[in-house]
Amino acid sequence: MKECTACNETKSYDEFHRKSYAKDNCQAKCKVCQNKYNTKYRNEIRPDYWNATDGYFSNKDNWKYIAEYRRADKDIIVYLLKIKDWFYVGMTKAKLNVRLRIHKADYKSPLNHGRMPGLHNLWDTMSEDEINESLNSAIILETKAGSRYLGYKTEKKWIQKLKHDGYPLLNDKHNIRQ
Ligand SMILES: [Zn+2]
Repeated sequence: MKECTACNETKSYDEFHRKSYAKDNCQAKCKVCQNKYNTKYRNEIRPDYWNATDGYFSNKDNWKYIAEYRRADKDIIVYLLKIKDWFYVGMTKAKLNVRLRIHKADYKSPLNHGRMPGLHNLWDTMSEDEINESLNSAIILETKAGSRYLGYKTEKKWIQKLKHDGYPLLNDKHNIRQ
């Protein structure tokens, strides 16, 4: 049993997310409180687009759009990952779930390792569960039709916006981790 630092309720260990570097392998906040905290930043940045129980993807009509969109598989997706207290902005013209799997494969591959030091160095300090959790945190920031060039411009726009708003970013190209 463990007391949650947010709601102060005493709960069993499986009601806490795992955290590899903590003494008892658990986060300080219980899952309910941690999830509330996680939705807070989503709501601040892009409340209409988050794909959890509330927000953009809770509307079934939007699922239809996404299904069609995925079939077309040509549009730009700019997405945001939350990794611990850091954020990473990415852009893809592939399906988002495919891009996220590629992120993980790149990270695991000895050939590609180090290509994205900001993201990969932080993942090095994290457990497999935590890495998966960071990939599952993906929010779509913006989708639009257009070229890869426009995609990078859109990605850069979001990087600059989030940086301006004070979010710590892991992006190497535009914003080196301090
Ligand atoms: Zn709690």
